[in-house]
Amino acid sequence: MTVTENASLRSFNTFGVEARARHLTEFASLSQLEQLARETPAFEQNHLFLGGGSNVLFTRDFDGWVLLNRIPGVEVVEENESHVWLKVGAGVGWHELVMHSVSNGWGGIENLSLIPGKCGAAPMQNIGAYGVEIKDVFDRLQAYHIRDRAVVDFSLSECQFGYRESVFKNKEKGNFAILNITLRLDKNPKINTGYGAITSELEALGVHNPSVADVSRAVMNIRQSKLPDPAVLGNAGSFFKNPLVTAAKANELRWKFPDMVAYAQPDGVKLAAGWLIEKAGMKGLSMGNCGVHDRQALVLVNHGGASGNEIFTLSEAVISKVQAVFGVRLEREVNVF
Ligand code: FAD
Ligand code: NAP
Repeated sequence: MTVTENASLRSFNTFGVEARARHLTEFASLSQLEQLARETPAFEQNHLFLGGGSNVLFTRDFDGWVLLNRIPGVEVVEENESHVWLKVGAGVGWHELVMHSVSNGWGGIENLSLIPGKCGAAPMQNIGAYGVEIKDVFDRLQAYHIRDRAVVDFSLSECQFGYRESVFKNKEKGNFAILNITLRLDKNPKINTGYGAITSELEALGVHNPSVADVSRAVMNIRQSKLPDPAVLGNAGSFFKNPLVTAAKANELRWKFPDMVAYAQPDGVKLAAGWLIEKAGMKGLSMGNCGVHDRQALVLVNHGGASGNEIFTLSEAVISKVQAVFGVRLEREVNVF
């Protein structure tokens, strides 16, 4: 394993901000990770696992070990008449996996097309888009407990998935390296087009009886029309989560803002954070070298040369303004280091 000292992390985060890692290395198997644990026990105390760096914001140098997870492999481990179980290495690109399952006609993750990053990070925040979350197809995963130096199996319930949440982002934060995930995909897919602009995009494509490939194409078209490409404009997708408020609070707000975008949930009302930021007058706002994206206010962007601290300060300004206008506190979705 090659270790680079005092390494730049700029090309390992989609915001494209500069930060340095005291030690940077990559591993492509469990045995390489075990070797590192044996030979460099200090890494247990201060480590950060990275996939594609599409959900992180670095606000400081990292005085420890940054480990790039590059474990490969996509394998059918079980199959019956209706389903296929795919075991996937944590270093496989998420969209690559979606394309693999779409090309086989397997359903379940087509609505999650074009989400950047690696498969090992997908359970971290229970990635979701267009009415589907990874938990809907999740079977199990294997993760390495850093301090115990042991491989642990996690079932669906043990991952404690929630909205952009899991046990790995909360109680077990920093304790595990996810090694592989197993998903259960449908050989007779039920298409899910009832969310956002998928139906209208399929109509525009002239598709009346959509396949998983059609849904994937529609999702990709919508995303490419709205979301900035990190290769062109640094960003980490939605910077904030959609807040959940009580029905009483939602009613109070609807009284003042009749056009408010809100969705009833079993445990409250979900507000569209992008709408709140736009209504608060911050869509397209520039602050130094960074700003709020002009087509999707939920996305903060690096216009070039922004530091992580500048972006963090912008996020504080957005949180304060939304709090002042609506009395609702936004929570960051992006992992800040
Ligand atoms: P990283 O950014 O590398 O890591 C994220 C977190 O997971 C960090 O805390 C890291 O330490 C930890 N981590 C990473 N890999 C491992 C591992 N193997 N073991 C343990 N911990 C690990 N997200 C959505 O949910 N839905 C979307 O629709 C969506 N759209 C996006 C669009 C754009 C343009 C961008 C830039 C981002 C978007 N995201 C979306 C956010 C992001 O792509 C996902 O959260 C993705 O799963 C992150 O993967 P990653 O490999 O880049 O993770
Ligand atoms: P959109 O379709 O314009 O919708 C705006 C918001 O309304 C979304 O946040 C979505 O919530 C919610 N919404 C829309 N239709 C809904 C329905 N039928 N029921 C419940 N809630 C509904 O959103 P967008 O910005 O273009 O994003 C499209 C999808 O991609 C969303 O699911 C979004 O979460 C996902 N996405 C995520 C990221 C990320 O980084 N996390 C980045 C880009 C896009 P939800 O967000 O809860 O789905």
